[in-house]
Amino acid sequence: MEPLDVVVIGAGQAGLALGYYLRRTARSYVVLDASPSPGGAWPLTWPSLRLFSPAEASSLPGWLMPSIDRGYPTRDEVVEYLVRYEQRYELPVRRPVRVQAVRRADDLLRVESDSGTFPARAVVSATGTAATPHVPSFPGRDGFAGRQLHSADYRGPEPFAGQHVMIVGAGNSAAQILAEVSRIAHTTWATREPPRFMPDDVDGRALFTAASRRYRARNGGPPTQEVHGLGDIVMVDAVKDARLRGVLSPRPMPDRLVPDGAVWPDGRFRRLDAVIWCTGFDARLDHLDPLGVVEPDGRVLVDGTRSRREPMLWLVGYGGWTGFASATLIGVGRTARSTVEQVDRELAAARPAMRYA
Ligand code: FAD
Repeated sequence: MEPLDVVVIGAGQAGLALGYYLRRTARSYVVLDASPSPGGAWPLTWPSLRLFSPAEASSLPGWLMPSIDRGYPTRDEVVEYLVRYEQRYELPVRRPVRVQAVRRADDLLRVESDSGTFPARAVVSATGTAATPHVPSFPGRDGFAGRQLHSADYRGPEPFAGQHVMIVGAGNSAAQILAEVSRIAHTTWATREPPRFMPDDVDGRALFTAASRRYRARNGGPPTQEVHGLGDIVMVDAVKDARLRGVLSPRPMPDRLVPDGAVWPDGRFRRLDAVIWCTGFDARLDHLDPLGVVEPDGRVLVDGTRSRREPMLWLVGYGGWTGFASATLIGVGRTARSTVEQVDRELAAARPAMRYA
């Protein structure tokens, strides 16, 4: 096969934003996606999930998410938007194609997949983190006899009716899951650090603005007093309602789990039927192992989004370490744009864009 200029791995929101900018260059490219249908990680989240920013502040480059009358967009509305975005820009996504390995082969990279090998001059990995839910090691976790699940496997509160449930985590997932489980179950909310709540009258737009100011200040911009960051809890209606009901009360983590519950440092015991770990995700970059770029902590050393060890490899969308807010719909466009500009420049420096008949 003729080498492509660029292979993007993953067609979630990050891969689509990259595609949007790549189509404006003269580069040949393809986006390979392991999922059988569009939407990246979004179809895997729970059905009642709502964004905490309005549609216009949750959009990819070029086309605003159509406005929704009934408050903030739902999971299914985001999926629908991503499906239509891919179609609208006729992005060359091939699926299902799972990339198994990327290897160096002279002056090219070989992208090996379950549907064949794609030689490429540059590769951008945008495979997300959804495949690797993070559950911290915790004393007694293996001996706990009740049900344990990660927020990635949470589908709704019904299985917990009447039960005693501990929800672990200080972010938006924990707050939103707590808000709905607490309607039909007895809940305990445990967090390692006290959660930080946004003021009631602002939404994710303010969160993004505040986080942007802090980011700029850390990178030599004007100083700021902003205290809010991207992980702070947005007071969507369900979370406000939980506060009204008196269940939005975090407590420190217990000392340990025991077979039928949890024990706190002061000896207090709480019976538990289930623990829901809302403790985030890790990047899984096995496909990059053959390049020798994956560090012991599972990440790749980058300057901006470009690998320090493999100059024709970029990574986008995995979180703050691959571009400010690059794991959000509104933030990934900026990172995708600067990445594509850099890829294009590097390819141009090597030789002119390849054009196909
Ligand atoms: P993904 O969406 O995970 O897409 C990656 C794609 O790569 C997938 O299609 C996958 O199949 C494919 N892939 C993986 N491995 C391979 C491989 N080896 N070969 C080929 N393809 C592969 N974001 C917001 O902006 N606003 C919100 O309000 C918001 N709320 C959230 C709430 C929850 C509970 C969660 C969990 C996330 C939320 N997010 C939100 C974040 C958002 O869902 C993710 O950060 C986003 O989906 C990441 O996009 P991505 O394109 O990087 O990865």
